[in-house]
Amino acid sequence: MSTATATAPLCKNFINGAWVESKSGKTLERRNPANLQQATSVSPLSSRGEISAAVAAAKSAFPAWRDTPAPVRGKIILRAAALMEKRKEQVARILSYEEGKIYKESLVETQRSINILEFMAGQGRRTSGETLPSEFAKNLAYTTRQPLGVVGAITPWNFPIAIPVWKIAPALVTGNTMVWKTSELTPLCSVQIAEIFQEAGVPAGVLNLVFGSGEEAGDQLLEERDLRAISFTGSNAVGSMIYGAAARRMIKCQCEMGGKNPMVVLRDADLSLATEAAALGAFGSTGQRCTATSRVVVEAAIADEFVESLVARAKKMKVGDGLQEGIDVGPLVDEKQLKAVLRFLDIGKKEARLALGGERLAGGDYDNGYFVPPTVFDNVKWDSVIAQEEIFGPVLSVIRVPDFEEALRVANSVKYGLSSSIYTNDAKKMYEFIDRIESGITHVNAPTIASETQLPFGGMKATGVGDREMGTAAVDFYTELKAVYIDYNGRKG
Ligand code: NAD
Repeated sequence: MSTATATAPLCKNFINGAWVESKSGKTLERRNPANLQQATSVSPLSSRGEISAAVAAAKSAFPAWRDTPAPVRGKIILRAAALMEKRKEQVARILSYEEGKIYKESLVETQRSINILEFMAGQGRRTSGETLPSEFAKNLAYTTRQPLGVVGAITPWNFPIAIPVWKIAPALVTGNTMVWKTSELTPLCSVQIAEIFQEAGVPAGVLNLVFGSGEEAGDQLLEERDLRAISFTGSNAVGSMIYGAAARRMIKCQCEMGGKNPMVVLRDADLSLATEAAALGAFGSTGQRCTATSRVVVEAAIADEFVESLVARAKKMKVGDGLQEGIDVGPLVDEKQLKAVLRFLDIGKKEARLALGGERLAGGDYDNGYFVPPTVFDNVKWDSVIAQEEIFGPVLSVIRVPDFEEALRVANSVKYGLSSSIYTNDAKKMYEFIDRIESGITHVNAPTIASETQLPFGGMKATGVGDREMGTAAVDFYTELKAVYIDYNGRKG
């Protein structure tokens, strides 16, 4: 926490259609994680009163927005898609500059956000209920979906464009108004998004963006009496607290949290395909993605060959500033994340055999940022700390197993259940894996990390609670289902 002395832009809250400076007097400075000399932004740590003001604005905007025809709401979301398309390179550059991921990945995330906006815009013309037969003559029985009212979103830093968009778009197209408490680490990305919705024609008060700490601004949002639902993405520690708070308030809650995603490699797999997927899944986005491949569970018969080819592939990955050409792995997002990853590297060195990496990079430009190289631990025991806990860095554990059954058991041995994948050409084992793997998303002969907007996104077990995000499942979360009975029989009683 610091006072706003830097030359970096000062971010403002977006409340009731206006950009307003926080009066809290407390701010947070952010620096480029690839170049700590560069202050990127100063954002306010908003007061509890400022969160209440945002909720009040969302409450008064709700009746008119609810009564706006859904196709008209959809058209505004479609305009936001077009505006993001127009600003695509700018959004992606800011994302790399602020969060650290490489420019190519920032472009992919921005394109994914455009896809989400396009899909959700269509929901304005598609969201429907059912007409069902009634037990009585001359009775019409049907269901209809209605907005909840004021909904809250609390988002993390690791997909600072896509995650907010996949909450805001379905919430708004279904007629809700929103207060969004964004991550402290990515304010510039958040400003981009709010500006795009503003320019697209979202009326004042329908979307409100507030900056601030989780402990104060986030906590206050959960306290607000007018809040009807909360959608959270982030760590398990915070998510379980939010789930509890929502339960006490009896409001709808959706929490998407950590992962410890396995990639199973069987003896008949195409090893070059599996190697490429493991490197991309584990070290892409510097391993800071909830769907990152953090465990490879490999049949012992091919394990030596697999590890050798993975290490050779990972050695070729260039670490550096994600805005520079030819870089494959950017920095970790901040010092806290760096310290957490370094702690796991120390633990890993005691628990397993270090096959690659394992130290913070130093010297030259590396001293100006939070750089850790692709790291591979081999001969990892399935129940060791590095095989069970989410690391959120470019660190991969290779676990050797005798056969498919043990691979499946190990894959399911963690508390999380977000994504998974299997590399095999054995159809029987592939289907067996799909049936029994405990994850909300699974891939066959593809990395753990991909997902598309028209399919639901989210996890099982400790990863996720509440309705899934994206796809039509997102619409379910942001609406109440009402059953309607119309009797036109004219009978009495
Ligand atoms: P985090 O839990 O530290 O923070 C997430 C958000 O919660 C931030 O906006 C933060 O300010 C807020 N917050 C913190 N304390 C709060 C409190 N007491 N009350 C209310 N809000 C509070 O997570 P992070 O470090 O930003 O993100 C990384 C985590 O997110 C990883 O665990 C990752 O796996 C997870 N994640 C999950 C998914 C998914 O869809 N499953 C996607 C992306 C990231």
